[in-house]
Amino acid sequence: MSNRYTVFGQPIAHSKSPSIHSMFGELTGRSINYTRTESTPTHFAQTLDEWQQAGGKGCNVTLPFKETAAQLCDHLDQSAKDAQAVNTIHFQDGKRYGYNTDGSGLLRDLTSNHNFTITNKRILLLGAGGAARGTLGPLIAQAPHSINIANRTVDKAMALAASFPGTLCDLLATGYSDINDEDQFDLVINATSLSLQKALPPLPTNLFAAGALSYDMMYGTEDTVFMIWSRQHHAEQVCDGLGMLIEQAADAFEIWEGVRPNTETVYTYIKSELS
Ligand code: NDP
Repeated sequence: MSNRYTVFGQPIAHSKSPSIHSMFGELTGRSINYTRTESTPTHFAQTLDEWQQAGGKGCNVTLPFKETAAQLCDHLDQSAKDAQAVNTIHFQDGKRYGYNTDGSGLLRDLTSNHNFTITNKRILLLGAGGAARGTLGPLIAQAPHSINIANRTVDKAMALAASFPGTLCDLLATGYSDINDEDQFDLVINATSLSLQKALPPLPTNLFAAGALSYDMMYGTEDTVFMIWSRQHHAEQVCDGLGMLIEQAADAFEIWEGVRPNTETVYTYIKSELS
């Protein structure tokens, strides 16, 4: 019998996760069945219960349920504790084990797919929402030179920085207007939801150091305004978040099935499907 998985979200019809995981199943020779489940903030806990009772082996969780999912798990691994949010649940012996693979997915995309070394680099992390929170721990673990978290709501950036005390790299929380014309970064990550609105955070234009990589967590049928802006202002490498999506899915698949699929062919297929 196939192992059953689903992704919970609202909305969820757009999710590429069923296609990605079906391909992972084929590539690894695992028999899996992966569906989409729409829920609501009021009903999420109940829908999750029903899925578990019906014999689901695990699930992914996306907006807007990641924080609630963390509260509904029996055990959280360090990634989920740091993120205070869960995107992957594994059901075992009636218990719920929660993980957050967004950070490891971003890291693997940057380091393996784009050959970018994070150690000793100056990072600008734009945004302080769930995606920024999920990626901060794994970024810090790579020992960058510094991370400047910049957010519209500065208090949220400060709270995020404060939740990683004793960090070895310089960790700074600011607003956008605090970034000076002289400040330069090797890695700029857009973890805001601004690209969805085809808008940009207000940033100085000489932000990118020589060899810098600009990463927008958003992905879609075409380049985002942030990617276009980054190219105009001389970022050497410019990437969208599709690689992160696929790598975080591969990490989830490994948690459930014990084998990590090769992501290259899946990336190529989903990229062509999008365009
Ligand atoms: P959240 O809603 O948790 O956070 C949104 C962030 O965007 C906050 O920092 C918010 O700032 C900022 N923001 C929103 N509107 C504005 C605005 N008008 N001006 C300035 N800042 C603004 O979202 P997530 O963190 O979950 O997601 C962020 C992005 O990352 C999304 O585009 C999402 O699709 C993408 N993502 C991609 C993944 C992938 O696998 N590729 C995985 C997860 C997320 P403030 O705090 O001031 O409100």
